[in-house]
Amino acid sequence: MMEQYIEIKLANPDSLLFYRMGDFYELFFHDAEVAARALGIALTKRGKHQGEDVAMCGVPVHAADDYLEKLIAKGYRVAVCEQMEDPAEARKRGSKSVVRRDVVRLVTPGTITEEKLLAPGEANYLMAIGRVKGTSENSYALAWIDISTGAFKVAESAADRLLGDILRVDPREVIVADPVFHDLELRSVFDVLGRVASPHPATLFDSAAATSRIARFFNVATPESFGQFSRAELSAIAAAIAYVEKTQISERPPLARPEREENSSTLFIDAATRANLELVRTLSGNRDGSLLKSIDRTVTGGGARLLAERLTAPLTDPAEIEARLDCVSFLQSETRLCEELRALLKGVPDMPRALSRLALNRGGPRDLGALRTGIDAARQIADLLSSAMLPQRLATCCSQLAELPETLREHLNLALAEEMPLLKRDGGFVREGYHDELDEMRALRDQSRRVIAEMERDLIEETGIRSLKIRHNNVLGYYIEVTANNAEALTGTDEAKARFIHRQTMANAMRFTTTELAGLETKIANAADRALQIELSIFEKLLAEVVSHADAIRAGAAALAELDVSGALAILATSENYCRPRVDDSLAFAIEGGRHPVVEQALRRQLGDPFVANDSDLSPEGDASHGAIWLLTGPNMGGKSTFLRQNALIAILAQMGSFVPAASAHIGIVDRLFSRVGASDDLARGRSTFMVEMVETAAILNQAGERSLVILDEIGRGTSTFDGLSIAWAAVEYLHEKNRCRAIFATHFHEITALAGKLPRLHNVTMRVKEWEGDVVFLHEVGKGAADRSYGVQVARLAGLPDAVVERAREVLRQLEEGETSGKAERLVDDLPLFSVAAKREATAPKANDALVEAIATLQPDDMTPREAIDALYRLKELA
Ligand code: ADP
Repeated sequence: MMEQYIEIKLANPDSLLFYRMGDFYELFFHDAEVAARALGIALTKRGKHQGEDVAMCGVPVHAADDYLEKLIAKGYRVAVCEQMEDPAEARKRGSKSVVRRDVVRLVTPGTITEEKLLAPGEANYLMAIGRVKGTSENSYALAWIDISTGAFKVAESAADRLLGDILRVDPREVIVADPVFHDLELRSVFDVLGRVASPHPATLFDSAAATSRIARFFNVATPESFGQFSRAELSAIAAAIAYVEKTQISERPPLARPEREENSSTLFIDAATRANLELVRTLSGNRDGSLLKSIDRTVTGGGARLLAERLTAPLTDPAEIEARLDCVSFLQSETRLCEELRALLKGVPDMPRALSRLALNRGGPRDLGALRTGIDAARQIADLLSSAMLPQRLATCCSQLAELPETLREHLNLALAEEMPLLKRDGGFVREGYHDELDEMRALRDQSRRVIAEMERDLIEETGIRSLKIRHNNVLGYYIEVTANNAEALTGTDEAKARFIHRQTMANAMRFTTTELAGLETKIANAADRALQIELSIFEKLLAEVVSHADAIRAGAAALAELDVSGALAILATSENYCRPRVDDSLAFAIEGGRHPVVEQALRRQLGDPFVANDSDLSPEGDASHGAIWLLTGPNMGGKSTFLRQNALIAILAQMGSFVPAASAHIGIVDRLFSRVGASDDLARGRSTFMVEMVETAAILNQAGERSLVILDEIGRGTSTFDGLSIAWAAVEYLHEKNRCRAIFATHFHEITALAGKLPRLHNVTMRVKEWEGDVVFLHEVGKGAADRSYGVQVARLAGLPDAVVERAREVLRQLEEGETSGKAERLVDDLPLFSVAAKREATAPKANDALVEAIATLQPDDMTPREAIDALYRLKELA
């Protein structure tokens, strides 16, 4: 057996091998150690191999899904190896013969179909990256498949946008050819992807063999019959297919034909921006608190997936966006219809996933049931909408629903029972009256069961043993059971002995059978067997019929998802008071009363002050041919980041075809969105905050064009004042002169506001604050003009800095400001001896703290790298 194990393991080196032994999947050697740790299960030993103990652990087959789920979530791949014959057959070949086993499936994060392993509202993409070496530039392509729904897409990419394009799709697993994976130029891409990406033999990606592989999979003469693909695209498509074939072994998922996505048709959002804007998850990785979570009002899994897809890939074609918005407007005005639609949608199960499971032979009766319910609901929805004057896209949805095969609906309804068992081998899923012989067999089975009940009654009467029972178990089948002290009645006479055949003696009971009972049992078993056989053949027939309509079912499910998204966005617009944006080909960007969709809802939940709406206008002014730049100043906590983000989020919402949190919005298509907001440390990768900031800023200045929207927050904060100011200054000039894009630039360097006098499209705005008895009150209002002060000291006081520090800081600030105006800044240190604080503290604080205070006062946080800061902290701690 070990020989067999090792052979199979060698063929699957990068997966944990689940080796079937009876009712368990066992893992051995290193696999066992890894799995035991990952699953928190006991590690044991089993025999020796080459003189060493063999580590082993196991999971019961019936609970295997739970364990698989854990392993997949942790990024492992699992090879499932089954027994391919009955152990009895192996024994027939000889006493030492090992049961034939084979890997029937590789379970990997990107190729799962089990309901339990999948999140209902999230797509589960496997992605392949194709690359074709060019003379000057390499060309890249991405192909992504969701086996659980059959979705299959492909798009071109390029080295500098690869990561952004990958993250847009948010795949669970990315496969790459070895040389690409190890290409130093792409190192940062695979660093970010981490475990999600894995290298595979280059032969999988061979673009020369791609055409025939694709043609074979789809059973067509050439893939050209469904579109023109570049060589890189062919390579990616073929690799994805090859991987599906490799992991699914003998089964073929019903994949849609690969659909090409044009890059220019979606708004490009680079990786950093996508993360910073927290579109589908927050920076800390949670779904709660993301934009998606706060706008999601969908009621079906398919709808939730489509909403996420739209949010991550907003459009750039105004006509298409308008068409989506028409649907939302329509359902918003037809309140009753929208409510009825959503009520019906609530009952719609996940049809594409049920279909995929069925096609992969992993489906059960409930998957057939899901299709029946789904197709029924689709019919009702089509009826509901049939009399309405639908906008074009919804009308298309309706006709797709109408194309769901009526015959299939009838067949499923006729054949399937109301209640569905989980497993087909349990039987009972075929409706009574559907199949004559099945009904007969069931009657026979049930009748015989009645006869057994009668037999029990008779025996009790005859023997006078009230506790006599006829029972059933899997080992003995039907048997008569009496307690030990009553056994005499069944064994006492020769006649009784001949009639009651002894089967088993228990601690305080004895078990018997009779020829009559055995005969009935055979009858029941045969009838039940035959009934199950009939049910299974009906299952197969329905399954084949379902799979033959795969395309129509998928199209119908897509239509339902679109209806769900349109209805959900309509409900969102009404409940959150969003307006329909005007989206066109201009360079306008004018928002009145804009709000931040996530912060607004959070404030309402906390019952705090309501969100303060703000206008923005970056539209070209007068005869200007380019959009404007707003330079935003204001104190920390004033609401700058919130304002920056809300403008980016409104653009995204508008272009995905949603209403937006504003009183009105006019947005000229944005083709690329860039943001640098929030300082996310990347120390793990050995880059300081400042370095990350500069890398991201460089990407923006190098790539932003006139259709881009750029959101920059506090550039130059991570370095010394003059360095930072100079960099921010130069960046503003460059954005204005070279990139000529629409931008909002927040800064705490007030000096830059002077640029507004020189650059015609640059405007100063500021977050308003009120001063009240020496404190600052944030109004969260954006107004024209520049902030004259930063109120840093006041904010520090609000944050709870000790009074002595605040007072001292005020003093330093006053002197600094005076020094600056009278040109004597360099003499500050002389004018303001450090020990003036120390002297003041002497009376109240113990002496030991002097050194500490002094050390704190000499710190220059603005000039420190994070590493120096932490060192300084340790030094301070020593002084304390
Ligand atoms: P800054 O970037 O200027 O430091 P933030 O944008 O982080 O400020 O905002 C600070 C806090 O103020 C946020 O936590 C938010 O709750 C609140 N806030 C920001 N903008 C608004 C607004 N327009 N209306 C109400 N509260 C706001």
